[in-house]
Amino acid sequence: MGTKGKAIVGVDVKKLLEMLNKAYADEWLAYYQYWVGSKVACGRMRGIIAGELAEHAAEELKHAEMLTQRIITLGGIPLLTPEDLIKETNCGYDAPSDPDTVKLLKQNIKGEQCAIETYKKLLDFVKGNDPITYHIILEILEDEVEHEEDLESLLSDMK
Ligand code: FE
Ligand code: FE
Ligand code: MG
Repeated sequence: MGTKGKAIVGVDVKKLLEMLNKAYADEWLAYYQYWVGSKVACGRMRGIIAGELAEHAAEELKHAEMLTQRIITLGGIPLLTPEDLIKETNCGYDAPSDPDTVKLLKQNIKGEQCAIETYKKLLDFVKGNDPITYHIILEILEDEVEHEEDLESLLSDMK
C-alpha cells in the first residue's frame, strides 16, 4: 500500500489484520457449509432452499475475496491452510450432517447471526479511523443481514 494510504489507517494494523483473518476464516467455512448443504439438502421446499443456499455460498466466497484483498493491501498474509481456518474461525463450522431443509435453515441462520455480530465488532473497531476497511466491512455486513432475513423468511414460509 502507498505511503499516504497507509498513513490514514489510524488503528492498530496488527490487531486489524488478526480480525480480518478471523473473518476470512469464517467466510471460507460459511462458503463450504452453504455449498455442501445445497448439495445434500432434502425434504420440504428442497429446490427453493438448495437454490438459496447455493446463492449464499457464492456471496460468502465473494466476501472472502474482498477480505483477502484488504488483508494483502494492509501488508498481511491470508490464512494459508485449512487447519488455520478451523483454528482462527469465530463462528465455527456446523456440518450439515442432518440434510433436512428445516435443520439446514436453522444451522445457517445461527451462522449468519454470528457473522452479523463479528462484522458489527469489526465496524466499531475501524469506525472513524480506517474509511476503506469500514466501507468493505459495511458492504459485507449488509449482505449478512440480508442473508439472515432470507433464511428466516424461508423458515417462516414452512410453518
Ligand atoms: Fe459472508
Ligand atoms: Fe452470509
Ligand atoms: Mg439470499
